[in-house]
Amino acid sequence: MLRTALLAVSRSATCRTLVERTPVTRGLVARYVAGSDLDAALPVLHDLTRTRLVTLDHLGEDVTDAAQADTTVAAYTRLLAELDRSGLADRAEVSVKLSAVGQALPHDGEKIALDNARRICAAAAAAGTTVTLDMEDHTTTDSTLAVLRELRTDFPWVGAVLQAYLRRTEADCRDLRHAGSRVRLCKGAYDEPASVAYRAKADVDRSYVRCLKVLMAGEGHPMVASHDPRMIAIARVLAERAGRRAGDHEYQMLYGIRDEEQRRIAARGDHMRVYVPYGDEWYGYFMRRLAERPANVAFFLRSLAGNS
Ligand SMILES: Cc1cc2nc3c(=O)[nH]c(=O)nc-3n(C[C@H](O)[C@H](O)[C@H](O)COP(=O)(O)OP(=O)(O)OC[C@H]3O[C@@H](n4cnc5c(N)ncnc54)[C@H](O)[C@@H]3O)c2cc1C
Repeated sequence: MLRTALLAVSRSATCRTLVERTPVTRGLVARYVAGSDLDAALPVLHDLTRTRLVTLDHLGEDVTDAAQADTTVAAYTRLLAELDRSGLADRAEVSVKLSAVGQALPHDGEKIALDNARRICAAAAAAGTTVTLDMEDHTTTDSTLAVLRELRTDFPWVGAVLQAYLRRTEADCRDLRHAGSRVRLCKGAYDEPASVAYRAKADVDRSYVRCLKVLMAGEGHPMVASHDPRMIAIARVLAERAGRRAGDHEYQMLYGIRDEEQRRIAARGDHMRVYVPYGDEWYGYFMRRLAERPANVAFFLRSLAGNS
């Protein structure tokens, strides 16, 4: 219930204004967001890449006009040039939401997003790094996978995200387990109807394990995106069983969550990548992080009450 309510709030413009204007929010946002712009995020990037790999997300989603989509492309182009300039392109890649580059625009949204994603991929290729397409709500899954297929004809290293809570995902994993394929498997962060998604945690976890089995036994590069100790332990066993080595799969976690565990996984020799968001369009991302953990909400509400 609470998760559903928070995810509904994450799409409300009125609530957005309220939350953004509340002074206490800033401190909480800083736990999950590396900075309000690239310059502010650079120290975090430099620090993390000493021990871990990184994927950077320039925050933003659901742009409503082509000019905003262009602004997103320019931000990624600048970011990729910076990765090249600072010699970090082998330690850091970028994650892109297609809705931030035009996917939701009413006319030719998918084509605009594809063209814009191509520009970002070309900049990534020039810098010597890779791009992963984030996955948004289930109404975008087919379109995002179609864009992925197009991009991969020119940029075969483009990665995808699959969400274990969707009933279709085990089949999508089978389609994407081939050599060269990079798939980030996560549980899923949006509020989806039971017609397309598992709603109970136990069912989502079981689906996650089934999907992991498919990906680990396949020939691609699985990216295990979870903070759940059980999923991580199972992934490790499956990787060993499949004869995998560090470097042909990786673990991923979000910036600000289970930092000690991130270090531990990196220290044991596995590839550990941190998803690092930055920018001032943090509202949707932040609300999804609140929704994932009831303790976060209690803390947030207590902080709001204490400041009112
Ligand atoms: C690298 C990465 C990329 C992602 N990309 C996408 C994407 O493209 N599309 C998408 O829909 N989702 C994405 N997600 C989010 C994902 O779908 C889940 O919503 C999120 O990771 C929580 O699921 P979990 O596997 O950690 O398991 P859970 O069972 O939710 O959590 C396990 C434990 O992790 C800790 N934890 C989890 N979330 C939080 C939090 N917000 N704050 C504090 N502690 C927390 C808690 O200790 C919790 O008990 C991504 C996640 C990661 C790690």
